[in-house]
Amino acid sequence: MQLHVLQDLRRRLGSVSECELEEERVVAGDLVLHDLRGTVSLLRTDRGLLATMDATAKLEESCSRCLAGVLAAVEVHFQEEYVPLVDADTGARIYRAEDDEAFSIDLEFWLDLREGLRQYILMSEPRPLCREDCAGLCARCGADLNVGPCECRPETDERRDALAELKQKMDEGK
Ligand SMILES: [Zn+2]
Ligand SMILES: [Zn+2]
Repeated sequence: MQLHVLQDLRRRLGSVSECELEEERVVAGDLVLHDLRGTVSLLRTDRGLLATMDATAKLEESCSRCLAGVLAAVEVHFQEEYVPLVDADTGARIYRAEDDEAFSIDLEFWLDLREGLRQYILMSEPRPLCREDCAGLCARCGADLNVGPCECRPETDERRDALAELKQKMDEGK
């Protein structure tokens, strides 16, 4: 997930290079991905490199209903511009505006895709399930309903009871 891009930065404007990604395990901040496969292309822009990543991976996540650990399939399609801190031809330090939010290519010309990847995945808000029909947790007692029903009465019953009670009161009031 770290590419050495000195040669790419020396290419002329508009040229594209592509490389295959195949990573068994990627740790991107607080995210862990497995079996990341795909491609990343680097387009030389006037400021740096526009990286386009297309990949699939499995994300270590928790089931959005019952919180059990799952490996959720995710697709990654992101595009970010990466700007060098040093001019690849002259070696001169490049100073950037403080509000420039583009990612940096470090002083040794390494382009690190992990932070962009992390942000992309967080934005895509994956809501994985351990299985399609996961019953989730009881909202009241927190019991895992996949294991079996809990002691709580389903809310619908209570509502029905409340309605019945109301109806009875109205009938009595007549
Ligand atoms: Zn679940
Ligand atoms: Zn319960």
